[in-house]
Parts: sequence; C-alpha cells; structure tokens
Amino acid sequence: MINISRKEKEPLCLAKEKEKEKKGFKKNGDYNCEEVKEKLKKDFLNKCYICEQKKNTDFQAEHFKPHQNKNIDWKFDWNNLFLACSYCNQKKGNRYNTDENNQILDCTNKKHDVGNWIKYEKQNYPKSDFKITALKDDKIVHNTVKFLNEIYNGNKNKKENTENLNDLVSGELRKLYKLIDKFFKGDKKIKKIKKRLSIKSKFCAFKRQIIKDNSIFRKEFEKYFD
Ligand SMILES: [Zn+2]
Repeated sequence: MINISRKEKEPLCLAKEKEKEKKGFKKNGDYNCEEVKEKLKKDFLNKCYICEQKKNTDFQAEHFKPHQNKNIDWKFDWNNLFLACSYCNQKKGNRYNTDENNQILDCTNKKHDVGNWIKYEKQNYPKSDFKITALKDDKIVHNTVKFLNEIYNGNKNKKENTENLNDLVSGELRKLYKLIDKFFKGDKKIKKIKKRLSIKSKFCAFKRQIIKDNSIFRKEFEKYFD
C-alpha cells in the first residue's frame, strides 16, 4: 500500500446514476462505469490500492466504506470509490470501515502514512510467506496489517492459493536486486533503478522496504523515492 493523491474531478455520470436510482428509474445505478474506472486508474496510478498489482483488465471501483446497498450516498460518492482488483475487492467485502472498530488506513488521506506505519517484507531465498507488520501501535494500523496479511498470504484455513501473487512480488524484487547488484559492480543504470522504485511501479512498498532496511542502499537510492 502506498499513499495516493487524488486529483481527478468527479465523473459526471455518478450524480446522474445516483439520481436514476433515487427516483426509481433504475434498480441499481452504475458506479462502475468506464469513465469512473478511467479516472480512478489515473489517480491510483494504474494499481490496485490494496495489493499494488497492475492488472488492467481486472480493475473495479471499490467502495472504501461499503455501501451495503443501504447507503446511497456512499455508493456514489467519488471520494469513496477506490481502484482495486477483483481479488482484493472480494476479500475486503463488507468487513472493513463499517464501524469504528474495523477501520483500515485510507491511502488517500495524507495524514495516514501507509508507507512508514507498516513494514512490508518478503523473503525470496528461501521463498517465504509475506510478513506485514505494524510500525505504529494503533488500532487502525493493526486492522490494516491483518487485512494485508490476509491479502498476500491468503486464508490458510480455506487453503487459498496466493502462489501467483507470491511469484509476482518475488519476480519484481529479484529484478530490483539484480539492478542493485550491477550498480555496486559499476554498472550504474540509475534510470532503471529509479523506475523500479517509482511510486507508479507495482509492489513499490516491498521494494522501498528493501532500500529502507539497508543503510548503504538507503544512502544511494532513497533520494529517488518520488
Ligand atoms: Zn488487489
């Protein structure tokens, strides 16, 4: 998870669809239309805000605060719509942000420092589960950590398969390690490293963690965090 700053203006279709539903012209107004998704993709840098995957075909407009077909304002509220992949959208369901005990961090809220309040670890050799831990002792941080562990590691009781996600993150980390290795051997392809650490890149939180955890890496590469 990384912090996102929202810039796009509310798509006009949202108010229209809300009105249609309100007046009973339509049973379910469409909040998930192309215009909404296109604008969300721009603001959310083409990434699922939960898992940081870049799966263009699979994106959905996710309700940060679930509307549960009861709250029409939340259903069509532009600032309540986030870009998520179908896997994360389904996993989140109605389990978070319904009352004060199950709040998770809002990556679009500048006061929620999602990059520094949470530690994102993934060991490649030997291949391991993901380890997401809280760096701030706060209920909302703990809830988010619990949720992210579920996302990346799956529910072991349900035997959910997250092998694919595990491989995708491992592959991305391997590429970064390779570039860093080359850098210290004299092949200073800083442009490529910069790209891999960019906020726009997939699984950025995990890659930046590698840099933050090593004082030599930090000295060389932290300045490229955009
Ligand atoms: Zn996702």
